[in-house]
Amino acid sequence: MDNYSKTKETANRIAVIERLADSPDGSRLHVYPRSIAATEGAVLFLARQGASKVIGVVGQSGGLTGAAYLLGTDNGDQQLRICPATAANVAVLRERLPHLMPKPLGLAKSIGLGDRLGLATPGHADALRAYADGDMAPIFAQQSVRENSRTGRTPQQVLDDATLGAFQAGWQEGYGADADHLKCIDDVDEHLAAGYSFYTIDSGDHVQDRGHTATGATLQKLYDALPWEKLASTAQDTVRRYADVPFDLESFRLTMTGEQVRRAAVKYGAAVAHTITLARHIASRRSHDAYEIELSLDETEHPTSLPEHLFIAAELKRLGVEPVSLAPRYPGRFEKGVDYIGDPEVFANEFKRHLAIARKFGPYKLSLHSGSDKFTLYPIVARLSPEGAIHLKTAGTSYLEALRAIAVAAPDLFRRILRLGHQRFDTDRATYHLSGDQALAPNPQTVIDAQLTTLLDESHTRQILHVTFGSILQDPQLKSATLAVLRAHEDLYRDMLVSHFAKHISPFTAGKR
Ligand SMILES: [Zn+2]
Repeated sequence: MDNYSKTKETANRIAVIERLADSPDGSRLHVYPRSIAATEGAVLFLARQGASKVIGVVGQSGGLTGAAYLLGTDNGDQQLRICPATAANVAVLRERLPHLMPKPLGLAKSIGLGDRLGLATPGHADALRAYADGDMAPIFAQQSVRENSRTGRTPQQVLDDATLGAFQAGWQEGYGADADHLKCIDDVDEHLAAGYSFYTIDSGDHVQDRGHTATGATLQKLYDALPWEKLASTAQDTVRRYADVPFDLESFRLTMTGEQVRRAAVKYGAAVAHTITLARHIASRRSHDAYEIELSLDETEHPTSLPEHLFIAAELKRLGVEPVSLAPRYPGRFEKGVDYIGDPEVFANEFKRHLAIARKFGPYKLSLHSGSDKFTLYPIVARLSPEGAIHLKTAGTSYLEALRAIAVAAPDLFRRILRLGHQRFDTDRATYHLSGDQALAPNPQTVIDAQLTTLLDESHTRQILHVTFGSILQDPQLKSATLAVLRAHEDLYRDMLVSHFAKHISPFTAGKR
């Protein structure tokens, strides 16, 4: 059969399925053609019915549960089932189509695509198709514990939304699922149960900033009080291991004084111990090849110095934890939703040296958290790591693109979101480092509907909208209206994500294309 006839046959088949499964309440079934996938004994597909996504299966239902219909085909009658996208059905879907199961990405260049609303994955997949050409591996599911508490979603829902999005887009190249900013065993367990593949351990609460300023006897006292048993070492041995030992790191040599060692240890020793505890807990519950670990230090008070990075990396290695990536806190400011604030040259110099440490003690990737919209840095990072040993983490920027779609499709709703954002900004900004200033944001009243999207290109308004997502989504009316508009304008949202992520992806794949 030629391609045209094949396409025509598929289209006819879809039309039959759609007619057959039209629900009595009049909500039509729309099959997503790219989702159609053949597997043992069945053809699976995703469809939209009213406001919901449903999983369709023609042939053996194989554990998928839903309403059954009889489908007349050339080869006799076949069963069609239209199954709600429950957690149980999505789990079966992942089993039957293993490319939808999250997996470790290893040292491949990668991008985290946090999606607070659970509707962005098809756009993310299309952006990667258009601009990465297989040269950047995606993490489609990625939410921090803090984000989930603000959006009211569970780790399972986040993963299931990503699975359905990948299915809808016909994405077969695999993806990761990042349990972001885990701080304790309970955080870890919830994500283990859901089947995440990437665990970002954030031991920031155990970082002791007094290591920065303490001197003399005070520093020594703090140093002696470290959890040496957990670190399987002693105060004396640790100084001996690092002090006055030259470490050759490509273009430079790093030698720490005894005091530098004590400072690094006081600051990060307990954090290393906590990281080890969480990493071993994960290792005891998942097989080695089913997950990977990132260590995040980005939400600490001070930039991570090179001796500190070296100390942490060497200690993790000694204790048998092999992260796939590590996120230092770099110099300069990585504020939400806006470009890098700082001296790009200072950043480049530090980044290069951090990379050398990561190569020597790993190799592992360097991760850029709050990596959305840091357009100044992308060419620098891409140039300094030609092997692509980087992970770019983005999150809120996809939410802002959702608001851009709403500004176009539903200006009144956008104005309501903006109004609440302005009201809540002072409170909601507390947990973020921001320089956004409400007084400098344009007054929305002066902006006509056709120009509303320009507000999303203005940095103060961006930050207002960026950090108030929790308040918006905790308002039941605003939340359901937001989701309804995005579901009704799927293509618009997708197009906005594709053109926005072009700017995030292209700098890293330009050499290849
Ligand atoms: Zn982070």
